[in-house]
Amino acid sequence: MSAVAPQFSFELFPPRTPEGVAKLPNIAAQLAAVQPKYFSVTYGAGGSDQDGTYDTVVKVVEKTGIEAAPHLTCVGSSRAKIASLLDRYKAAGVKRIVALRGDLPATAIGTGAPGDFRYANELVSFVQETHGDTFQLEVAAYPEMHPQALNPTADFDAFRRKVDAGAHAAITQYFYVADAYFDFLERCAKANITIPVIAGIMPITNHAQLSRFSAACGADIPRYVRLRLEQLQDDKPALLDFGLDVVTRVCEAVLNGGAPGIHFYTLNQADPTLRLWKNLGLPVPH
Ligand code: FAD
Repeated sequence: MSAVAPQFSFELFPPRTPEGVAKLPNIAAQLAAVQPKYFSVTYGAGGSDQDGTYDTVVKVVEKTGIEAAPHLTCVGSSRAKIASLLDRYKAAGVKRIVALRGDLPATAIGTGAPGDFRYANELVSFVQETHGDTFQLEVAAYPEMHPQALNPTADFDAFRRKVDAGAHAAITQYFYVADAYFDFLERCAKANITIPVIAGIMPITNHAQLSRFSAACGADIPRYVRLRLEQLQDDKPALLDFGLDVVTRVCEAVLNGGAPGIHFYTLNQADPTLRLWKNLGLPVPH
C-alpha cells in the first residue's frame, strides 16, 4: 500500500442523447455518494464539443458539490481558442485540467488539421506559461505504450517531456495487466520522475465495446479474459460478474503495490464502478 491514502476519481463523458443528458445528474449523484476526489469530463472523444464538456463540468459540480476537471485536447485547435477556453474555465472556478493531445478526426479528404500544438507537452507548457499555478495539470501515461509511438523508449521520453513541462500528475490508459503498470512506475523511479501516476481502470461490461476500444488504444486483454468474455457475451449477468472479478484483482494488485490512486473510466454508468468499489472494501461515507 502507498504511505498516503490513495485518491479516487471518476471519469464521465458529455452525454450525446437527450436520455443521456436526463440520466447524468442521477449517475453523478450515485457516484458522488462515495466521495471521489474529483470527476473528470472528456472532450472530443465520440464527437463531443467544447460546450458539452463545459456544461457537463458545471452541472456535475452543481449537482454533487465535488470538483470536476475538464479534459482539454489541443489537436485541431489554435492557441487563441485554447486561451479563451482556459479563461472560461478559470472564471467558472475550475482548478484542475486533464491536458491531452487528442486524436485527429478522420475526414472525407484525409485527417483534420493538426492545430497550433502538436503534442501534449506543448499544451502543458502553454497552460503553465499563461496561467501559472491556476490549474493542477494531469497528463496521460501509457504503461503498454501509446499505439502511435515509435517504441517504448520514445514514448517514455514523450511522457518525460510532459512532466518537464510542468504536469503535476498522470493518469494511465486503462490496462488489465498490473505488471505493465508496475514496470512503468519503475521506469519513472529510475528517471527520477516523482509525480503521482494514477492507475486508469475501466470496468468490464461489454465484450464488443472492450475489444473495439482496446484495439484502438493498444490495451492488452489477457487471452484467458478475452476467451471467457467471448464465451459469456450473450449472458450479461455472468459477463458482469466475471469482469468484476478480473478488474477487482487488477485494482487490488495496483493498490497493494503502492498505486497513489485509481481513476475509474465509468462510461457514464454508476453500477459497475460502485460494485468494484464495494468489492475492494473501499469506504462508503454515511
Ligand atoms: P502525447 O503525449 O502528445 O503523445 C501522443 C503520441 O505522440 C505518442 O505516441 C507519443 O509517444 C508521441 N510523441 C509525443 N511527443 C512527440 C514528439 N516530440 N515527437 C514525436 N512523437 C511524439 N482523447 C480525447 O480525444 N478526449 C479525451 O477526453 C481523452 N481523455 C483521455 C484521458 C486519459 C486519462 C487518457 C490516458 C487518454 C485520453 N484520451 C482522450 C486519448 C488521448 O487523447 C490519445 O491517446 C492521444 O492519441 C494521445 O494523447 P496524449 O495527450 O497522450 O498525447
